[in-house]
Amino acid sequence: MDPAETTRPRDRTIAPALHVPVTCVTVTDDAHRTYRARSGPVPGDLITITDTPRTWRFVPDLTTTGDGWLLIDACPRCGADVPTARIATLADLDDHLDPDHNKEPVHEFYTDPAHLSGCQNTPLQH
Ligand SMILES: [Zn+2]
Repeated sequence: MDPAETTRPRDRTIAPALHVPVTCVTVTDDAHRTYRARSGPVPGDLITITDTPRTWRFVPDLTTTGDGWLLIDACPRCGADVPTARIATLADLDDHLDPDHNKEPVHEFYTDPAHLSGCQNTPLQH
């Protein structure tokens, strides 16, 4: 399937998945992550949820067959906004906010192009 065609519907399904109004969801071009389409690389979707106690940002999780997203949060080392957790439901988000929950980042965390150069959380630095 063409990722450019499959990611757009996911952007809309994040609102009911996280129990927020669709009007809180804004989708913009992702400045850091691209997808291969038939016409070449295209910008990914950066999904921003506002009008909630804090602003949440997500990118589509293309590794899952159902609806899923990767939560964008600050890298503890370089401060760049990178994928940190796999989120499909509000419960996943609650788990992420639970201080007792396993905070091991998703593997996309370590391969994300948004890390600043020299950040030790990228494979090239190990
Ligand atoms: Zn980093």
